Amino acid sequence: MNQIELLEMAIKFHGHKCPAMPLGLRAGWVAMEKLGVERASNKELFCYLETGPAHAMMCFGDGVQVATGCTYGKGNIEKLNYSKIGIILIDVKNKKAVRVSINPEFHKMAIGSQFVQMRKNGIEPKDIAPEIIDPLVEKVMQASDDKLFKISNVFNFDFKPKKSTFELHECEKCGETVFATAIRIVDGKTLCLPCSEYEKAPAV
Ligand SMILES: [Zn+2]
Ligand SMILES: [Zn+2]
Repeated sequence: MNQIELLEMAIKFHGHKCPAMPLGLRAGWVAMEKLGVERASNKELFCYLETGPAHAMMCFGDGVQVATGCTYGKGNIEKLNYSKIGIILIDVKNKKAVRVSINPEFHKMAIGSQFVQMRKNGIEPKDIAPEIIDPLVEKVMQASDDKLFKISNVFNFDFKPKKSTFELHECEKCGETVFATAIRIVDGKTLCLPCSEYEKAPAV
């Protein structure tokens, strides 16, 4: 897939057109170029995503996933919750990494845009006119790497991937199946996390 096709796919995946998602594509691409790697088909790459739990431009993270192939489904991306627009991309096999973070000048300019002001006023991205969004997306897609980002040199990173388990258990309380990484033994019974009293499960 070329970059235009990836942009189209990313917009479908993301759900709406906005400038922060393509910025994530660009961050992923420049990091991959710097490392000399291809998009991960499995877990060849690992990404630390520096965005946080609730702030503007979090859409960045979806672009990063599409560009790098580091996805929450495959488990080769982890959110650091720094509330920053940046990534550390790791070439797992060659133990090399690069950090790409938003250029503060560009960030300050972007946060003052009409699009962001409208978002701040509670207008949904899908309700913002293409005449406002399209030029911003175009700008992000066309701008030079240096205008958008600060890019580190490649550095050594001895990343130790977690080994996936294939071991399946059955919870003795709810009867549901659960992988070995999260079972708890309570009074001799094998339980899943929501059924155990060890950790509070999220409210359903
Ligand atoms: Zn978005
Ligand atoms: Zn259970």
